[in-house]
Amino acid sequence: MYTTALVRLSSPLQFLKGVGPALAEKFQAKGLETVEDLLFYPPFRYEDRSRFIPLNQFREGQSGAVQAMVASTRTRTWRKGQQLLFEAELQDDKGNRLQARWYNARYLAGEIVPGLRLVLFGKAEFDFQSGRVFLAHPEFEVLPEASDPEMALHMGRIVPVYEAIGKITAKQLRRLVTRALPAAQELSDALPEEIQRRFRLPQLAKAVVEVHEPPADVDVEALNQRRSPAHWRLIFEEFFWLEFGLLRKQRDTRKAPGIAFALTDSIREKVKQMLPFKPTGAQKRALKEIALDMAAPHPMNRLLQGDVGSGKTLVAAEAAVIAIENGYQVALLAPTELLAMQHSLSLQRFFRPLGYNVAVMTGSQTAKEKAALRKLTAAGHIQILVGTHALLEKGVEFARLGLAIIDEQHRFGVLQRLFLRQKGLAPDVLVMTATPIPRTLALTLYGDLDVSVIDELPPGRRPVVTRHYAHTASKGVWEAVREQLQQGRQAYIIYPLVDDSEHSPDLKSAQKMFEHHAGKVFAEFRVGLMHGQLPAAEKDRVMEAFKRHELDVLVSTTVVEVGLDVPNATVMVIENAEKFGLSQLHQLRGRVGRGGHASYCFLLTGSQNEVSAQRIKAMVETGDGFRLAEADLEIRGPGEFFGTRQSGVPQLRFAHILKDREILEMARREAQEFLDRNAQSPRMREAERYLEEHWQRRYGLAQVG
Ligand code: ADP
Ligand code: MG
Repeated sequence: MYTTALVRLSSPLQFLKGVGPALAEKFQAKGLETVEDLLFYPPFRYEDRSRFIPLNQFREGQSGAVQAMVASTRTRTWRKGQQLLFEAELQDDKGNRLQARWYNARYLAGEIVPGLRLVLFGKAEFDFQSGRVFLAHPEFEVLPEASDPEMALHMGRIVPVYEAIGKITAKQLRRLVTRALPAAQELSDALPEEIQRRFRLPQLAKAVVEVHEPPADVDVEALNQRRSPAHWRLIFEEFFWLEFGLLRKQRDTRKAPGIAFALTDSIREKVKQMLPFKPTGAQKRALKEIALDMAAPHPMNRLLQGDVGSGKTLVAAEAAVIAIENGYQVALLAPTELLAMQHSLSLQRFFRPLGYNVAVMTGSQTAKEKAALRKLTAAGHIQILVGTHALLEKGVEFARLGLAIIDEQHRFGVLQRLFLRQKGLAPDVLVMTATPIPRTLALTLYGDLDVSVIDELPPGRRPVVTRHYAHTASKGVWEAVREQLQQGRQAYIIYPLVDDSEHSPDLKSAQKMFEHHAGKVFAEFRVGLMHGQLPAAEKDRVMEAFKRHELDVLVSTTVVEVGLDVPNATVMVIENAEKFGLSQLHQLRGRVGRGGHASYCFLLTGSQNEVSAQRIKAMVETGDGFRLAEADLEIRGPGEFFGTRQSGVPQLRFAHILKDREILEMARREAQEFLDRNAQSPRMREAERYLEEHWQRRYGLAQVG
């Protein structure tokens, strides 16, 4: 027999009646293992099922819930037989009728049958043929028999709607959550009392219960906007502990012992000697912030943000000079081999006047080569070691590592950043990113980092003119490219695939199109091919040839996405642009417009969906990386924007980084104030223990320290 008293927060979900091994597995795949996890799985929508809209009162564009019986159904073809349409004629208990339609949903014929009672939620659209409105692709739930004891769970009140997990339906979830709810009483409420009082927050247990079982007097609108008192409390709670953890970590880092680099006149002189050009104001400002950090006797932990082409490498090189002139070594971590190579070439050029030893270590080197590099590094003969993940392998030891520069943070993830630390070193850390992270997000995700921004491009840059064409209009694009080539400029043409694939017949490949361009379209020019599957030596050769203008056109995959720097290149053509992410498109575009010549980016697309159309539109409308990042985040949502949990995105359940900004900022202020005020009090220790026990793992803060 199932008794509520036995449900504990820490019980595995299988403990709940109705959850067998198969369901438990599906929950687990979604990251839900315990009863507590389920309580923190919020509904994504609420329906007021105490009042339904009568079927005859639905107006075009209106959305809402209806209760009805299925009178009849049929499946028919549509759009000249290309699409299937499943229709159900609905009837409410007053005899009013309304049609519901689902496109390409033949499977529904077995699920929705005449006589069935449903609750549907959807939006009404107008049908010109019949002159009536209909429900377009509504979500639906089959109602239990009137005699079902659980009827009250699904009807006659404000009902929470959960996003299905695998095959676990919203209805099943509603039932299971209800069984889990008694365990909420066990939740300990650790949010500082004066904050709870000041904001008049409901108790934690009460808030958890109320998001799943809203009281009858709560406004449905407020629930759906996630602004009911219960929601507000839970969102605030998540942000508060996140910010508390980050701020505490930042405070600890600032107190930890680190290297205090000297900043003497002779070192300043060396930096000047290295500079091939006059730094921009923004570069100067960033360097000043970095130099101050380096001079302080604590480890630097700074994020250097700057749009593509803003000159971050130069600033990093300046920082490297400070470290090296103090007798330390520098490590530079890059996400790809190509980028590592690029960086080592730029640094060799920068450091020629200073005579530093720059070496590069990558995965494709032989064991012998790597062993030799390890030896030189351990002996301190190499001043700057550039490399990919290979640098993080066991056995790579520096004689005196003083500064670690990490490029493209979001690809490496936070883990690697920590790895350097865990080797027992406390070098200064500078993280560079060309994917500008909106400020609010930087606050949340890198709240433990200080941030410097390069918000100015080197002089003489011209904005890149960006145009969008359908593939069918590519002829004009090739003409425009030809014109540039005739003026002595160079061009990139990018493809999503290395070689043709039968799995994606709509996508063009670099290999096939290289043959086409070299043999036909640009036969009178020198055309090269670059992609990730070429041997490293060949990649090197092609890259060098393009740099020296021994090639006019580079046909490539996205391997050129980051870091390639050829100022004479003025055209970037991206085919199948609908297949690329926004930050990728922006990175690719950043390869041109580097030399003071007018530059162009042509985006060619095949068939588009709504999301890709939004991305292309954003690209055409703005060249500002920060605005693009905001747009990208809005199009994709934070989870996907940053990839997996590995990238350090905290696992927020109730809070949404974009939608709940104002609460985030409030929570941050409160957390800061709490830290300042209670620095010496036992309440701090209490809060820290609570954070460690309840939130650390979820926020990815655990590995830090
Ligand atoms: P990022 O790494 O930020 O994308 P880079 O460091 O590759 O940008 O710099 C882009 C280009 O601008 C490089 O060719 C670099 O040499 C050049 N550059 C950087 N700073 C300046 C400057 N202050 N004046 C002129 N050119 C600069
Ligand atoms: Mg320091």
